[in-house]
Amino acid sequence: MDVYYKHSKYLMEKYKEKVYKLPINLPGSCPNRDGTKGFGGCIFCGEKAAGFEALPPDLPVKEQLLKNKEYIGKKYKAKKFIAYFQNYTNTYLPIEVFKKYINEAAIPGVVEIAISTRPDCLEDEYLSALKELKEEKNVEITVELGLQSARDETLKIINRGHDVLTFINGVYKVKEYGFRVVAHIIINLPWVDEKAVLDCARLLNNLKVDGVKIHSLYIVKNTPLCRMYENGEIKLISYGEFKSRVKKFLMALSPDIVVERLFGRAPEEEVVFENYGSSWRKIHDEIVCEMIKEGSYQGKNVIL
Ligand code: SF4
Repeated sequence: MDVYYKHSKYLMEKYKEKVYKLPINLPGSCPNRDGTKGFGGCIFCGEKAAGFEALPPDLPVKEQLLKNKEYIGKKYKAKKFIAYFQNYTNTYLPIEVFKKYINEAAIPGVVEIAISTRPDCLEDEYLSALKELKEEKNVEITVELGLQSARDETLKIINRGHDVLTFINGVYKVKEYGFRVVAHIIINLPWVDEKAVLDCARLLNNLKVDGVKIHSLYIVKNTPLCRMYENGEIKLISYGEFKSRVKKFLMALSPDIVVERLFGRAPEEEVVFENYGSSWRKIHDEIVCEMIKEGSYQGKNVIL
């Protein structure tokens, strides 16, 4: 038995075969950087936002998809794909550009389009365009919303530029359109204690989100967070505490919420701290082994 509800399992149940992500990197921006919602961006967000694994943003969408599809298709004999608009705030692009890009993404083999964005950037015209595409091309739509923390005071410190209520309203709005909702959270922000992490599980359970991406904090060079870290203004929790938090979060999380990611990753040369100097695979396996040994699993102690 898996100790948590893996994304690969969900995809296999839904599509009856393995489905692979094709990342798309757009030359977008973010209203939390250009002054519309705030300046400077979230304190942990670097120049490239989350686009480390993607192709250069100046390549046309279709070309990015076809290149990645050819590579992944050959390597894994893959036939079904998720087109993943992962970087920056994708629903902040001009509406016509947004429509063009999402339509270009619906190439043969793409069964799902995943759009990463902010909960305060969910204008109806963007969601309507996604709904039209869903109906015309018979693709699933997933909207990924950054929450990061379920505490307003923490959201202020990390300069998110929105509060928890905005996230809640965003989830309801996306659900009204019939799309999947995935929340992004950071489990080891220096200002967050274990109770706040459990409160986050409670919020996601009650909102009945479809999935969650848990990010471990990595500290990207030349960010405000990096300066805080280098000046000794923040203290990170220990590796042991971090693992304990992940396990407790999973136990508190409803068993039908898909865990789409357990850790965030970034290239070594871009960061000053990442995953306690350990490999993704090692941390993952340690957590899973410990949970098996302890008889714990996702949903064991669901909090509502
Ligand atoms: S909302 Fe996203 S892209 Fe914008 S600054 Fe924050 S993390 Fe970066």
